[in-house]
Amino acid sequence: MRVSSQSMGEADPGTNLWSTTAGETLAAAPLEGDVCADAVIVGGGFTGCSAALHLAEAGVGVRLLEAQSIGFGGSGRNVGLVNAGLWLPPEEVEQALGQAVGGRLNAALAAGPDLVFSLIDRLGIDCEAMRSGTLHCAHSQGGLDDLKDRLRQQLARGAPVELLDAEETAARTGTRIYRGALLDRRAGTIQPLAYCRGLARAARDAGAVLHEQTPVLSIARAGDGWRVATPGGSVSAGALLIAVNAYGRPMAGLTPPAYVPVHYFQIATRPLTDNLRRSVLPERQGCWDTAPVMSSFRLDAAGRLLIGAVGSLEGAGARWHRGWAARKLAALFPDLAGIDLEHAWCGRIAMTGDHLPKILRLGERSVSVFGYSGRGISPGTTFGKAVAAYLVDGDERALPCDPVDAHSERLAGVKQAYYEFGASLTHAVGER
Ligand SMILES: Cc1cc2nc3c(=O)[nH]c(=O)nc-3n(C[C@H](O)[C@H](O)[C@H](O)COP(=O)(O)OP(=O)(O)OC[C@H]3O[C@@H](n4cnc5c(N)ncnc54)[C@H](O)[C@@H]3O)c2cc1C
Repeated sequence: MRVSSQSMGEADPGTNLWSTTAGETLAAAPLEGDVCADAVIVGGGFTGCSAALHLAEAGVGVRLLEAQSIGFGGSGRNVGLVNAGLWLPPEEVEQALGQAVGGRLNAALAAGPDLVFSLIDRLGIDCEAMRSGTLHCAHSQGGLDDLKDRLRQQLARGAPVELLDAEETAARTGTRIYRGALLDRRAGTIQPLAYCRGLARAARDAGAVLHEQTPVLSIARAGDGWRVATPGGSVSAGALLIAVNAYGRPMAGLTPPAYVPVHYFQIATRPLTDNLRRSVLPERQGCWDTAPVMSSFRLDAAGRLLIGAVGSLEGAGARWHRGWAARKLAALFPDLAGIDLEHAWCGRIAMTGDHLPKILRLGERSVSVFGYSGRGISPGTTFGKAVAAYLVDGDERALPCDPVDAHSERLAGVKQAYYEFGASLTHAVGER
């Protein structure tokens, strides 16, 4: 097996598969000088770009400020599974938030893939979009029982989901290690960085002004609005969205969002031969499993197999994670044992204690949105659109869930160690 020696540090997005293959390109100049806008957005991921797009389409003058480049954060590093709903099953969402609010959030996120794929169509975003569903694969009998319960909950809400038996799962995935899988036909896969850049490009076409290499250094009240300062200038605006999720840099005047940071890595093979592609994920569903240390796998448009799991590729555990990935690939697909691994990269997920995203109220027409807990493609796009509507007139009923005045996370360091150390141990000793 040959593993690329490229460094996959977070400061070096050029080594990420998605930055190598993105069909969409985008470049925006840093902010220079002091300007005014109706709304200012901090962070150029799915949330910020979707909000910028929908604000601009509504005729609102908006500036988006991104510290690095569009899609630098989780939006340009993720697996690319466009899922419906959250990782948490809908009944648990309703238990946590109450029937009315939980039901509203579930309904909004059930329609998330429709929103994402319709934007891709309407805006002509070149992002390897593939809507053949996703497969949540049962690694054990307990996992299969969990999927049966998820099936019951989804069917009760009219979702087009189906539980596949072991044979059907093997035919769809090309591996026989699973006991079954939940097929969700609403879902699909994308090239996530290209999707994010496409949203940004469309936002700019609609009139939004974007700035890359523009870290926000401070945020302060100014009259009825805000003054957001950067190294080269400032934006004064009446409405504000902070959309930095797990990649926030310090901003004076703003308490950083509270979440548990969890690393997730991915490793991509060289493109599979046509012969292998006939049996490995022939319909290109995106997959993840029910194991306590979850893993994911999918193909990209060129036929590379991407495998991912919790863990960081920096520090002591990196060797274990890489070794595990090679063993897992061979366990899933014996024909891939020893295949060249061409890319490896990782990113940070913002987990919250209850696994629910948060909308933090900062003032009138001003919020911070974070905590997607590993499900941010459809939710980020959906929240960004909804926040855009809210920023126009301050009506909180536009939001998919109620904003809160404060959010804290207890024992964030301990929880991070639990997730990441647990994954390292599993990957060090586990065959797969
Ligand atoms: C490895 C990985 C795999 C994942 N897989 C999936 C998946 O398959 N499906 C799914 O739905 N979700 C997945 N997620 C989650 C999803 O990627 C995130 O929830 C989503 O990208 C969050 O988008 P965002 O716009 O809120 O934040 P981000 O995309 O993280 O963007 C935040 C941006 O804010 C910028 N920023 C920070 N501070 C400042 C500042 N002071 N000034 C200016 N800009 C600033 C950052 O540079 C960054 O670009 C995954 C996440 C990771 C990390």
